[in-house]
Amino acid sequence: YISSVEAPFIKEMSEITHHMWMQGWDELNGGNISYLLDEEEVAKYINVLKPLRTINLNFPVTELAGKYFIVTGSGKYFRNVIKDPEANLGVLRVSGNGDSVEVLWGLRNGAVPTSELASHFMSHIERLKVDPTHRIVLHTHATNVIAMTFTHDLDELKFTKTLWEMCTECIVVFPDGVSVIPWIVPGSSEIGRKTANKMKDHRIVIWPHHGIFGTGSTMDSTFGLIETVEKAAIVYNLVAGKEIKQRITDQQLSDLAKAFNVTPKAGILEV
Ligand code: 13P
Ligand code: ZN
Repeated sequence: YISSVEAPFIKEMSEITHHMWMQGWDELNGGNISYLLDEEEVAKYINVLKPLRTINLNFPVTELAGKYFIVTGSGKYFRNVIKDPEANLGVLRVSGNGDSVEVLWGLRNGAVPTSELASHFMSHIERLKVDPTHRIVLHTHATNVIAMTFTHDLDELKFTKTLWEMCTECIVVFPDGVSVIPWIVPGSSEIGRKTANKMKDHRIVIWPHHGIFGTGSTMDSTFGLIETVEKAAIVYNLVAGKEIKQRITDQQLSDLAKAFNVTPKAGILEV
């Protein structure tokens, strides 16, 4: 094997967690990522024939049987991933009947995968049904999105419209809008099911007073999507309480969608 630290997927995880920590979104152990990998890609760097140990799942994921993922560890700090990937990340393979995962690399010293694994795995299942190129689920505590969930209506159509109105590019980057679930105890199968249900027709799910889930086929596009939502939330919070003298109109949002060939989520624009 080529040394595992050379693996592009480990490098990508190390770089993005570092970058996100620098944004201030992933304080302490906040945030988690799971990244669907090809067996051939994993096998170049890691011995897939010798699992280190098995971890049982309390939410079976038969749809993911045999699939490989790199994930962040539970209680691990994004800040530390780049210094010691093997302690803070893990490469997993879902068992044949989908009721456990085998650890193939990392999660040193008995560490376990992120406590949000239910939300991640259930979201992978739903996104793969609608997008075969789907690979990544990323959860982070994006500061301004969290702030906005205190002052803005949590109706997802209204939330989406406000975000679209904050920056011209938004409707082009997320014409499918954002979804919002009620506040639920994190780390539970219930929040996993609710999140995944929204993933049937959204790439973004907002957890009020907690953070955001984003999905995509590459690290760049997934991070970029969350970054764009967060940017709109920053603008929203900056203008909050101030007199709005001019704004992007529904007609202009509709013109943007036409010009960039995207279909805005229905029921939001009044034109
Ligand atoms: P983990 O450290 O278990 O990934 O949890 C962090 C988090 O953000 C929970 O929502
Ligand atoms: Zn969280």
